[in-house]
Amino acid sequence: MLSRSKIPRLGLILPAYNEQEVLPTTLSKLNEIKEHLIDTHLISHDSFILVVDDGSKDETWRIIQEKELMNSDLIGVKLSRNFGHQSALLAGMSESIKLADIIITLDADLQDNPDIIEKMIIKYNEGNEIVYAVRSSRKEDTWFKRNTALTFYKIAGFLGVEMVPNHADFRLMSSVAVKALLKLPERNVFLRAMVPLVGYQSDKVFYERGKRQAGTSKYPLKKMLSFAIDGITSFSVQPIRLLFSIGLFVVGIASIEILYTVFEKLIGNTEAGWSSLMISIWLLGGINLIAIAIVGLYIGKIFTEVKHRPLFQIETETGVFVETSYHTD
Ligand code: UDP
Ligand code: MG
Repeated sequence: MLSRSKIPRLGLILPAYNEQEVLPTTLSKLNEIKEHLIDTHLISHDSFILVVDDGSKDETWRIIQEKELMNSDLIGVKLSRNFGHQSALLAGMSESIKLADIIITLDADLQDNPDIIEKMIIKYNEGNEIVYAVRSSRKEDTWFKRNTALTFYKIAGFLGVEMVPNHADFRLMSSVAVKALLKLPERNVFLRAMVPLVGYQSDKVFYERGKRQAGTSKYPLKKMLSFAIDGITSFSVQPIRLLFSIGLFVVGIASIEILYTVFEKLIGNTEAGWSSLMISIWLLGGINLIAIAIVGLYIGKIFTEVKHRPLFQIETETGVFVETSYHTD
């Protein structure tokens, strides 16, 4: 078992979009945990919390600034607009890695139970570069969310997208793993499928996901669906292959249909075939439409990839960066 030679400097990364109701509670809870971990020598005394304000329209940024004045271990990073959860996480990682040896990303609403952070760091000390926090059950979810999530992981797995089931974005990564992740050039960010691509030794820690402590979900159904579709189409070309197989199958059926029609014609049953003709037209029409839609999805991906738009743009920062990192290297 590998044990690390140095006590790591931890950066806790929280993406926050309109989280004024919950942020103060989250920050004080995380501060308590951080102090405990420092006292037990699991993390270094200069460990920090970094909040990425993902273009919030409420008081989130003011809260970060206020707390930062009282607590020098808090770093605020404000994005110039709402770039989305995944880009906010990436922004937090690329900023934290300038200072931290390990980072842990977690939601700002305390749904990702911070009490297991200690276990995650112990796993890091055992030699893991990535530690995934995995939900041990989904009983907190609604029936709908539980089943759509299950279906999503099944379809994604079938289509060859490698992911840790029931793991979202609550994870520990060492600076080595983060640097490797940041080398992936893609624009369609879906971290839970990108992180396993990085490799390195990894492990899991199980936890019960709690309820959102305050405020409302920033992931309405529409956003969740497009996230799931993005996740699959960004990582798998299997749908195209599947479509090809379906195409072959349909051509096979059509051949039988043609033979049958010719036979009917030869024996003089000419009015027969109307229904099979209609079925063929509709079936092929439908499949053509699906085919065009799927190809369209991929063309859409190429379209966004070639644009190479920046994933985030930091507007201002507060906290220790101002004093240290800009002047050190
Ligand atoms: N979030 C973000 N940008 C967005 C949407 C969400 O930074 O555009 C953050 C949000 O503040 C929270 C985390 O992502 O810290 C997860 O969002 P939420 O809790 O609303 O999702 P849910 O738990 O309902 O799936
Ligand atoms: Mg949440």
